[in-house]
Amino acid sequence: MTILLALNWKMNKTPTEARAWAEDLKDRYAPVDGVELAVMAPALDLPTLAANLPAGVGYGGQDVSAQESGAYTGETSAAMLKDVGCTYAVVGHSERRDYHGETDETVAAKARQAQAHGLTPIVCVGEKLDIREKGEHVAFTLQQLAGSLSGVDADVVVAYEPVWAIGTGKTATADDAEELAAAIRDALRGQYGAKADGIRVLYGGSVKPDNIAEICAKPNVNGALVGGASLKVADVLGMQGAL
Ligand code: 13P
Repeated sequence: MTILLALNWKMNKTPTEARAWAEDLKDRYAPVDGVELAVMAPALDLPTLAANLPAGVGYGGQDVSAQESGAYTGETSAAMLKDVGCTYAVVGHSERRDYHGETDETVAAKARQAQAHGLTPIVCVGEKLDIREKGEHVAFTLQQLAGSLSGVDADVVVAYEPVWAIGTGKTATADDAEELAAAIRDALRGQYGAKADGIRVLYGGSVKPDNIAEICAKPNVNGALVGGASLKVADVLGMQGAL
């Protein structure tokens, strides 16, 4: 399965900065066999990425509305993302769940809406520290996954991002990542049958050039969703080169 290196810029980079980043990448980028690179950017940055990224590098939104169109001030629709050439939309990132009150039902509705417009949703799940400390991280994450994939078809990517490892410098060990990725794979088999083996399960949380190879070498981990280390082209090339 092709490894997906998905870069989540979060709320960073103005369109001017995004353009400079894309041009810098274009100057230095060479595709690596078996590795797909895609940038999850603020909506305002997407047109400049469309115009300036090197061929073969994809891009997507960091969120998408669960609604088709209409009176939903501030939202970005799946049709808008598709129209600027996106292939992905992140849904259910823990920052959206925490700061915007998104429930599993909302996340699933967003994922379905993305798929209805030909976008592949990257559905994020993962536990907070207190849940891990109680040893309930597998059960919690699988329950979140089931709710977040309700009515969602198999054209999906799942990102396991333990909240305690996001932006903290605390990376889950490769074995921690594999424990959840394997459990997620089993759950995907239950929902999608044999198609589950073609679904990419990513790990996210303080991934960087010096730890990505070990994590992505695990049998059920098919890539990474990267925050902080996605902002500098040098780090991105470092991660790509390590894979
Ligand atoms: P960091 O890589 O900065 O820990 O962020 C992970 C993340 O939230 C990616 O979506």
